[in-house]
Amino acid sequence: MHAITLRDSKLSSGKAKRILVTGGAGFVGSHLCERLLSETNEVICLDNFHTGSRTNVAHLRDNPRFELLRHDVTEPFLAQVDEIYNLACPASPIHYQSDPIHTMKTSVLGALNTLGLARRTGAKTMLASTSEVYGDPQVHPQKESYWGHVNPNGTRACYDEGKRSAETLYFDYHRRHAVRIKVARIFNTYGPRMHANDGRVVSNFVVQALTGQPITIYGDGQQTRSFCFVSDLVDGFIRLMNSRDEFTGPVNLGNPAEFTMLELAELVLTLTGSRSRLLFKPLPADDPKRRRPDITLARKELGWSPTISTEEGLKNTIAYFDRALGRKSMTPHLEEIAA
Ligand code: NAD
Ligand code: UDP
Repeated sequence: MHAITLRDSKLSSGKAKRILVTGGAGFVGSHLCERLLSETNEVICLDNFHTGSRTNVAHLRDNPRFELLRHDVTEPFLAQVDEIYNLACPASPIHYQSDPIHTMKTSVLGALNTLGLARRTGAKTMLASTSEVYGDPQVHPQKESYWGHVNPNGTRACYDEGKRSAETLYFDYHRRHAVRIKVARIFNTYGPRMHANDGRVVSNFVVQALTGQPITIYGDGQQTRSFCFVSDLVDGFIRLMNSRDEFTGPVNLGNPAEFTMLELAELVLTLTGSRSRLLFKPLPADDPKRRRPDITLARKELGWSPTISTEEGLKNTIAYFDRALGRKSMTPHLEEIAA
């Protein structure tokens, strides 16, 4: 184990803050860093580049208020900061299952190291938890008061139980050491900078549709998810971090519009104008059957609800992948959206 000491500088004065984002070079983290910098904060982005990349934050590197550090959250880290957004953890099933023991370590040791730093510096910290804490839910839609239905030793457990343990640590540090915590339970989120090949359903369907490959439907496609566009999620994070100290969450952040995977496939086919066919494949183990957030608490405490419809968000995401894949747009309007 070794500790690192980040560049020492005084805390920002006035409204601007010094903020650490673990997992900041990932899909969601890169959008969060961008938003925090736009509000004149100093941002330290810490990442081991397991599923994230320097490319995701390349456009931020010339900003003097941005610092990028390669580091693994399972090792301690030191920095004088006001706030910590703890996002480090692979999020897609194929990635978090590729090294399940490290996934569990990332959630548990990452939470311990983050909370230790928060305790030491007096920083506030937000955990990027997940709707997976509800497992394959028997209550629908899911409210924060639901304790979940999780298989503790299945192939998704490294992620689900890792996040559940991280939540436990957050609340114990809050009760024991008065660390100011916020816990966000994030539902499926999508948008530009998702991995083209991390196996998540939105990136899979969009890339398959744009490249004319078959759309892979797992199981009968009747399972449901609710998809939140990334800018809405980031807005929820910031509102949560700025909420009154007594409000710790957990709070659901997600878009309540619920789709079956077959409906999602049809929507992607329509928006891309693709003629890809559907290809049915086996359903992965413990795949949740229904998922939709109850966001009453987020509306009440944070004044937050998503503003981007699934159709609008998908158009934007399709335009991103169309450019990223280096192809000429299949439909001319996509170039306009991507600009
Ligand atoms: P992502 O995989 O794109 O980003 C995760 C980032 O964490 C990557 O940059 C990765 O390199 C980094 N990372 C992983 N392990 C690390 C470690 N040990 N040390 C340092 N960095 C490490 O995933 P994302 O979609 O951006 O998710 C961000 C966070 O939000 C994750 O904690 C995830 O569990 C949570 N979340 C995301 C979703 C979603 O739909 N995107 C849903 C629920 C929860
Ligand atoms: N899925 C699918 N085809 C794909 C990828 C995923 O039908 O090519 C399904 C998957 O079985 C699950 C849903 O889409 O029911 C969401 O999967 P994802 O991996 O995006 O997220 P999670 O299961 O973690 O919610």
